[in-house]
Amino acid sequence: MNIILLGPPGAGKGTQARILMERRGLVQLSTGDMLRAAVTAGTDVGRKAEAVMKAGGLVSDDIVIGVVGDRLDAPDVKAGVIFDGFPRTTPQAEALDGLLAEKGMTLDAVVNMVVDDAAMVGRISGRYTCANCGEGYHDVDKAPAVAGVCDKCGSTEFKRRKDDNAETVAARLKEYHAETAPLIAYYKATGKLRDVDGMAEIGEVTRQVEAALG
Ligand code: AMP
Repeated sequence: MNIILLGPPGAGKGTQARILMERRGLVQLSTGDMLRAAVTAGTDVGRKAEAVMKAGGLVSDDIVIGVVGDRLDAPDVKAGVIFDGFPRTTPQAEALDGLLAEKGMTLDAVVNMVVDDAAMVGRISGRYTCANCGEGYHDVDKAPAVAGVCDKCGSTEFKRRKDDNAETVAARLKEYHAETAPLIAYYKATGKLRDVDGMAEIGEVTRQVEAALG
C-alpha cells in the first residue's frame, strides 16, 4: 500500500507516519527529513536547499523530485510507502504520478489532515524529538513520562528543528496555502482523497486514518 499524508506543517503527518510505519510495516518517505540529512551531510542537494529551508520556503521541484526518484529505487520501498511532506506542488504531484507508473507502483489513498491554521504555530513552536529514535514530543501536549527521558528508547538527548519558530512557520503556512492546498482538488478528482480531523487527539486521528485506509 502506498499513501500520501497531506496537510500543513504541524498537522501531525510525521506522527501518523511513524505510527503507520510500526503498525503496517510501511516505509516513511519524508522529504523534509531527507533534505535535513542532506544539509547535515553537506551534500550538493543540502547546500542548495539550506537557505530556502531556513526561510520556510520551498526547495525547487527539480531537486525534491530527484531526491524522491532516487529513494524509490531502493528495494525497501516495495513494502509500501507513506509520502510525508511530498508532493507539495502540482508539478511534484504530476512527477510522482510518472515515477509511480515507471516503477510499477500504485497510489492507494491520500489522507488529508484537516486542521486550524491558528493552532499550528503553537504546535510547531513547542515540538521536539528524541535525537536517537525520532519519537516526537511537545512542551505542552506530550511530555515524556519521565522528564528528560525518551519513552520509546530511553535516550536523554532531544533536538528541535531550526525552522520551528514563529516567523518561519508563518512562511511555511503561506507556502502551504499557495502551493500545496491545490493538491486537495488534484487528488479529489482521482477519488482517492480521504479527510481526517487533524485537530483530534493523536489516537483518534490514527483511528480515522486507519478507517480511511480500510
Ligand atoms: P518538513 O519537514 O516537511 O516540514 O519540511 C521542512 C522544509 O523542507 C520545508 O519547509 C521546505 O523548505 C523543505 N521541503 C520538504 N519537503 C519539500 C517538498 N516536497 N518540496 C519543497 N520543499 C520541501
